[in-house]
Amino acid sequence: MSATTLAHNDAVADVAPLRPVVGGATLVPLVDGSRVPYANLDVAASAPALQAVADRVTQVLPLYASVHRGAGYLSQVSTALYETARRTIGAFVGAREDDLTIITRNTTDSLNLLAGCVPAQPDGEPGRVLVLDVEHHANLLPWQRGTDATVLTGGATVAETLDQIREELSDAAAAERPFALLALTGASNVTGESLPVDEIVAIAHEYGARVVLDGAQLVPHRRISLETTGVDYLAFSGHKTYAPFGAGALVGRRDWLDAGTPYLAGGGAVRRVRVAGTEWHEGPARHEAGSPNVIGAVALAAACEELAALAPADVAAHENALRRRLVSGLEAIDRVEVVRVWADAVDPVGVVTFTVTGYDPGLVAAYLSAEHGIGVRDGRFCAHPLLGRLGFDAGAVRASVGVGTAGEEVERLIAAVGRLVADGP
Ligand code: PLP
Repeated sequence: MSATTLAHNDAVADVAPLRPVVGGATLVPLVDGSRVPYANLDVAASAPALQAVADRVTQVLPLYASVHRGAGYLSQVSTALYETARRTIGAFVGAREDDLTIITRNTTDSLNLLAGCVPAQPDGEPGRVLVLDVEHHANLLPWQRGTDATVLTGGATVAETLDQIREELSDAAAAERPFALLALTGASNVTGESLPVDEIVAIAHEYGARVVLDGAQLVPHRRISLETTGVDYLAFSGHKTYAPFGAGALVGRRDWLDAGTPYLAGGGAVRRVRVAGTEWHEGPARHEAGSPNVIGAVALAAACEELAALAPADVAAHENALRRRLVSGLEAIDRVEVVRVWADAVDPVGVVTFTVTGYDPGLVAAYLSAEHGIGVRDGRFCAHPLLGRLGFDAGAVRASVGVGTAGEEVERLIAAVGRLVADGP
């Protein structure tokens, strides 16, 4: 980083206030390079770090050492920090006593890891996984490798989709080729919508299938407990949960994880290596070969602690109000269409995707950034099958909110899109 950049950043950091979050926490100040104050409405891509997370990282950085390897003081402290972080992260999502919490790189990493652990069918064929076409590619592509994946086209309503899932699971069980796993989004990264978790778990378990939730968009916005819901596995990412990049988690039932062959081979994952063969560890170490991301895990744990201290109802009320305003404000503008998967979805998280007829989504996003300092995402959001099915192959624009988003930022977006449609770019 050049001296000029440093000086610029320092100057901005001096004057930028901590950004308040609903419920009393704060986000790190923005280093703002745009002409107008920046409105970050792209929280679903990566959420800005909470100030408490930044503070914790600064605190533990001097204690940097290799974990589980050394007898030295720093190594012991680092090991304790890492293992405490693991417990905090597991507790935040209601891990059951016997569940494993594996520190991964992100949601993608977690789901790839689990895909390698789905047990084979009794005749040795790969285990069957049922997945909907509404998923982010991170919850589609891993199942196409090494498991026998069936991709179900979702219905127009939640009720219809639940019936389809039930029928698919029941037919497979009747044919004695049951699904081992139902892999489902906790909240869509395109629409924020989801299927009701309790019902999904009940249906899947009735037919002998486990449930993994892609929690990338759920965990930062709603409290979820594996213990209470019966969800078997949950995958999520630190960088969407108000922590930095590089650490995520897979939490869930131990048996598959202890039996699966680690897809990352190397030091730390093995109990004993001989020329004749390798004896893998059980527990999280089995899937954490190589030197782990201690600082990332500590940062994610700090974010979990901070989010746990916020009242879930306050967070939901804040984000729901912003979402409702986004939808009503955008839909009131001529030529704007808001994307929906299920007409009867309840409690969507703060993600709203829309198109403006006659305007390329990339152009809309560029206009919002250049003219109004508003950051949104455009494209097909790593959900090509869904966007294709809904008729948005040319992409769309996505605005997303979080605990630190202000109502004024949402109003600016609505006004800016209104002006674009009224005046042209
Ligand atoms: N699942 C969903 C629903 C997402 O929104 C994302 C990221 O946008 C992912 C999975 C992948 O997350 P990561 O890139 O952190 O692995």
